[in-house]
Amino acid sequence: LRNVRSNLFKIEPYVPGKPMKEVKREYGLEEVIKLASNENPLGPSKKAQDAIVAAMADIHRYPDGGARDLKVALCERNGVTPSQILVGNGSDEVIKMISETFLHAGDEVVIPAPTFSQYWFGAQVMGGTTVTVELGAGFEFDLDAVLAAVTERTRLVYLCTPNNPTGTYIKKQAMQSFLERVPKHVLVVLDEAYIEYAEAEDAANGIEFLHGGHNVIVMRTFSKLYALAGLRLGYAIGPSAVIGAIERTREPFNANLLAQAAAVAALADEEHREASRQVNRDGIAQLTAGLELLGYSVIPTQANFLIFDTKTDDKEIFQALLHEGLIARSGTALGVPGYLRISVGTAEENSKFLEALKRVVFRLN
Ligand code: PMP
Repeated sequence: LRNVRSNLFKIEPYVPGKPMKEVKREYGLEEVIKLASNENPLGPSKKAQDAIVAAMADIHRYPDGGARDLKVALCERNGVTPSQILVGNGSDEVIKMISETFLHAGDEVVIPAPTFSQYWFGAQVMGGTTVTVELGAGFEFDLDAVLAAVTERTRLVYLCTPNNPTGTYIKKQAMQSFLERVPKHVLVVLDEAYIEYAEAEDAANGIEFLHGGHNVIVMRTFSKLYALAGLRLGYAIGPSAVIGAIERTREPFNANLLAQAAAVAALADEEHREASRQVNRDGIAQLTAGLELLGYSVIPTQANFLIFDTKTDDKEIFQALLHEGLIARSGTALGVPGYLRISVGTAEENSKFLEALKRVVFRLN
């Protein structure tokens, strides 16, 4: 162990949402509902499923390491060239590749928080220094505070919009003003894992800023709206030179064959995407109304999840919900102690959650 790089000991292991099988076994339950990992409750497009089955015929072959078909499809939608796209084994891998490309030991990474934990992981693997900037009141972004945290040693700034776990987002105006002022030596990484769910007209869209000539890279994923989390496929779009540099860290066949085939088909299925958005829109309204009826206040969200203030120990409510067969996410584990994060499910799952919460609160009081 003497030879292990010491920065690795600073890394706190990622704790995912509890798997359904585990909860079933542990609590002796027949039925378990998981609203913990911001997955799409509709499941993937039928077209994507068919594409997976068709692609099975080729799984003795290596995938296309260059992900050409997928890049062509993404280029058409985003008005970019293939050299501007990097494909990853989930955006988790993209975050790691960005870190490997830009961070020397001691380089600084600025992270508004609470947010997605993998930005810290990426920095720490490389021995980077993380600089955390708290979100403002109501979990709104304070980009002036982010700017104030930037130094000569800052290499990366991560902006997650809509933000996980808060659901809050960055407005166009604020993004514009931030990108105009951020020093040129800083690469701004916009994590837009949930942007396809955003409904606010004034929500910043990273691709527009990229086209505006800003030094940004935009990360997106097939895990959320496209419901392909199990296949692991994420991507980044940025200036060719930046993407070309990150490409140097990429493993030759990082994005698997089934994932690539599914993603191309999923991109072409506008109907399923729209249905998924509608389920989310309805689910947010249902959950918000139900929670407010129970006396909770909900943080307005632009994503496929929401957080609300439990006004008590969130861990206790989280545990009690597990006994009811409901897997939520404890805010304490996500940097929002006191809150609970709920991913939007189907209408039936949402109402079962609300019912279970009602029972739990009644019992605990
Ligand atoms: N970014 C954010 C903000 C996320 O919430 C997640 C998933 N939890 C990811 C990236 C990772 O997504 P992927 O499945 O593409 O690795």
